[in-house]
Amino acid sequence: MVHNGRVHKKGLDREIHAAVAATFLKMIRAKAEEAGSWYEEAPTWEIKPTQRSHMCWKLPDEKKTLSDREYQCPHCSVTCDRDENAALVLLRWLEMRLAGSSGSGREAPEMWSSGSFAAMKR
Ligand SMILES: [Zn+2]
Repeated sequence: MVHNGRVHKKGLDREIHAAVAATFLKMIRAKAEEAGSWYEEAPTWEIKPTQRSHMCWKLPDEKKTLSDREYQCPHCSVTCDRDENAALVLLRWLEMRLAGSSGSGREAPEMWSSGSFAAMKR
């Protein structure tokens, strides 16, 4: 009945992985709401946090590979760890999103406006 078992299994694996990820994100959302916070999912395919500079918000002309562990922006010359840059890009995206969402009922968490985030900025 299954003519191409491999393709069928590959599709099934993909569905299982998507279901597991969706369940995990649903649990994270529930935990955040339970703790009086909220859940926000960044559109990383748009933001490209591992490619974008957290400082000038520009994308490099040449795509950075996974082996490029240090992020160096060709536009503003900011240099930092790749993961740190990606985290700062996501933080900045959330900061811009929160600034633009006034009136939505969402408030920045306490730590956001205190020294925690500012201390992470360079
Ligand atoms: Zn830059």
